[in-house]
Amino acid sequence: VSEASSDTPSRALAILKDIFGYPAFRGLQAEVITHIAGGGDCLVLMPTGGGKSLCYQIPALLRDGVAVVVSPLIALMQDQVAALHEAGVRAAFLNSSMTQAEAAAVERGMLTGMHNLIYVAPERLLTSRFLDLLSRTHLSLFAIDEAHCVSQWGHDFRPEYIQLSILHKRFPNVPRIALTATADNVTREEIVERLGLNGARIFISSFDRPNIRYQIVDKVNGRAQLLDFIRAEHDGDAGIVYCLSRRKVEETAAWLVGKGIRALAYHAGMGAPDRSRNQEQFLRVDGVVMVATIAFGMGIDKPDVRFVAHLDLPKSVEGYYQETGRAGRDGQAATAWMAYGLGDVVQQRRMIESSEAEPQFKRVASAKLEALLALCESTTCRRVRLLGYFGESSTSSACGNCDVCLNPPQVWDGTVAAQKALSCVFRTDQRFGAGHLIDVLRGNETGRVTQWGHDKVSTFGIGKELDEKTWRAVFRQLAALGLLAADVEGHGSLHLTAASRAVLNGSQAVPLRLQPERKKTSARTGSA
Ligand code: ADP
Ligand code: ZN
Repeated sequence: VSEASSDTPSRALAILKDIFGYPAFRGLQAEVITHIAGGGDCLVLMPTGGGKSLCYQIPALLRDGVAVVVSPLIALMQDQVAALHEAGVRAAFLNSSMTQAEAAAVERGMLTGMHNLIYVAPERLLTSRFLDLLSRTHLSLFAIDEAHCVSQWGHDFRPEYIQLSILHKRFPNVPRIALTATADNVTREEIVERLGLNGARIFISSFDRPNIRYQIVDKVNGRAQLLDFIRAEHDGDAGIVYCLSRRKVEETAAWLVGKGIRALAYHAGMGAPDRSRNQEQFLRVDGVVMVATIAFGMGIDKPDVRFVAHLDLPKSVEGYYQETGRAGRDGQAATAWMAYGLGDVVQQRRMIESSEAEPQFKRVASAKLEALLALCESTTCRRVRLLGYFGESSTSSACGNCDVCLNPPQVWDGTVAAQKALSCVFRTDQRFGAGHLIDVLRGNETGRVTQWGHDKVSTFGIGKELDEKTWRAVFRQLAALGLLAADVEGHGSLHLTAASRAVLNGSQAVPLRLQPERKKTSARTGSA
């Protein structure tokens, strides 16, 4: 068999053209394919839409035997196998959606070499019966898709993935390729360690998605801002709107429909028929806006999603990157838009603190949240920050295609404002939320202010020089900077932290960012 021969690259290119119908490889695809076709192990880090599937599909056709692809999602398997069939490739999947007779037929086909690729869920692969079957099968390679599912600290953790290291022990001569779009160092090291990939080559693509314009706005009224954004920049376009809760998904979808937007809902609490009907519509009908929880998206291959919007803060930069990465997979101009406010900071912190998780998990979760908050509050190019997070520090010049580059925020000395805000929190006994505190600072004699006697405290009316919107931005940033914390019960009341003292006694300055009024720019000008 000519597995490691020198004509591998030209044979791979022929398969790319003849079977998949593409003229050229992208990025690192050719290198990865040559490596794995030659029998080497590897870990491939490529952004969503980067073209990971061909990295194992083509070697599967170059090598003799059956390629076994481990994939965590049934929907993803089915789509991939359907696409392979269309291209004329012999592929099949094994999962819990099929009858025993169907599964038995596929398994018999494995032994007789009927398939080039078999997609299988990890829990099935790990049964002793299936491992036994594998030992009687002529195998070409193992592909482990969504390899970050081994990471205990990620939100896609699948306990079965950890046991996939058994593949190497049982079948040491079968090459393995692990693939993921999650690229931070910690996850990378975890994958190598848990899958026993020491000595494997690591291929890392650039994570830059130059056609995506990043835009993070101060949240005032999230859904109204969303509607303005869609109407101004993406009227009639397909998009995804992410919300944290199922209820908010439904309310937002219904509200958008009432405003004439063709919106649908998707979350894990809906019945399977409704979910798949909405997903089908999103895929087949032009210009549908899918309002969804993060249950939606993994494995969705729709190239012309023109925008991804977040009405709530994701949990981490990885989450933000993965979710926004679903926009513009066709390479045309697309927007990643997010509205973010004090409530988001408070809510995410509370979710971490009140979770039952172990302390170490909470520390990791907090650190991940802090990194995302730093991205939200960034006064320098968002893309440079984002790529820096993934270890791409070479990308150091401003991108010209994010809100910070296009419309730079003003940085002002917020020290005095911060001192006023913090002393107002203190003078009102650390029991109130930002809305009330802003009323006190601005000297608004609301019923609540007089009822609590807050028109008599020394901080009443000392903040008239700033408008309400600016004060909101001040409180949000104080929370993001850890200078204020919210109560765990969820009433939104703010209290001082250990770090507040240095600001109050004047030993620490507080530079703050101020979002300028939006310039009327057209999103449609600079295309990719
Ligand atoms: P990933 O799994 O990395 O998110 P996919 O493998 O699903 O990405 O590929 C994303 C899209 O790009 C698919 O529509 C795929 O057919 C297409 N694609 C992949 N490689 C190439 C290539 N070399 N040339 C053109 N299109 C490609
Ligand atoms: Zn930029």
